[in-house]
Amino acid sequence: MALIFVLIDGVGLAPAGPQNPVARGLPQLARFLGVPLTDTLLIGTTGLLARPVDATLGVPGLPQSGSGHTAIYGGFNAAAANGRHQPSYPTIAMRAQLAQHNLLLAAQKQGARVAWTNAYLPGYPEAVAQRRLRHTAGTWAALQAGLTLRGIEDLLAGSALSWDVSQQLARTRPGATMLPEIAPEVAGARLVRLARTHDLVAFETYLPDLAGHNRIGISVADALALVDGLLAGVLQARAAEDTLVVTSDHGNSEDTTTRIHTRNAVPLLAFGPAAGAFVPVQAIDGIAPALLNALQGA
Ligand SMILES: [Zn+2]
Repeated sequence: MALIFVLIDGVGLAPAGPQNPVARGLPQLARFLGVPLTDTLLIGTTGLLARPVDATLGVPGLPQSGSGHTAIYGGFNAAAANGRHQPSYPTIAMRAQLAQHNLLLAAQKQGARVAWTNAYLPGYPEAVAQRRLRHTAGTWAALQAGLTLRGIEDLLAGSALSWDVSQQLARTRPGATMLPEIAPEVAGARLVRLARTHDLVAFETYLPDLAGHNRIGISVADALALVDGLLAGVLQARAAEDTLVVTSDHGNSEDTTTRIHTRNAVPLLAFGPAAGAFVPVQAIDGIAPALLNALQGA
C-alpha cells in the first residue's frame, strides 16, 4: 500500500454560489465524492473521508502559505509559534524546526520509502543561491530528509511532476522548452506509478492560489480544471491499496469577490483503505501525524 499526498495551495470551502468557482470547478472530483467541494462537505464512510479542517490555527488574520505549509509538513502550529501567519515561505525558525521534524524525514525514519515528486527546472539552485527564489516548506522538508530534488530529466521520463501539473507554464521557462504539455490526468497517473515503488508519494501545486491572486495568466477556473484532472488521474489509476490524501493550506480560489486569502476551512480528503487514519484531524497541523500513523499501520 502507498499514500499519495497532494497539497493544493489556496482552496477553501465556502457555500456554493456564483462567487465560488471551487463548488463547480472540480466536476470529476465531485463525481468521486458524490458531492461538490463546499462548506457542507462531510463524508465518513469506509475508504472515504471528506471534511473541512481548520487552516486559521487559532491565529488572527488571514492564513498564509509559509506558516500553512510548515504546519502541514511539520505537524506543528507554525502560525502560533511565529506569533502570526507567515506569507509564502518558512522563516528561519520554521526551517530550523522542519530540519528536526517533518513528515518526509519522519516517514523515512519509520522505514518508509519517500518520493518528493516536484521537479525543479534548470537554474533553480542558482536562483535560490542568489535569493531570487526561496525553498517552499515542502522543498525544505525534502532536502532535510536527504531526498534528491527531481529535475527536468525526471519530467521527461515521467517520474516527476511540474508544480503547474500540465507543464504548460514550465515549458515557457529557459531550458525547459523541450517539455511537452501533458494532460493533467497523465500527471496524476505518474503519482500512482511512483506509488508502486514508494510508500509515501508527495506533490504540491500552487495553481489555484496563484490564479486567485491573478499572477500566472491562468484563470481560476482553468487552474481548478488542471487540479481536477490531476486528482481524477490519481483516482482512476490508483491501486485498491493506495490512499490519496488531499488538502490545502488556506482559502483563496473559492471566493472571487476577493483576490486575497480567506479564513475558510480547507478540505481534507482521503480516498482509500487508510482514510480512517484522518478521522481525528481537526486542523492542518494534524495531517502529518495522521499520515505517519497511516504509514505505520501499513
Ligand atoms: Zn498558500
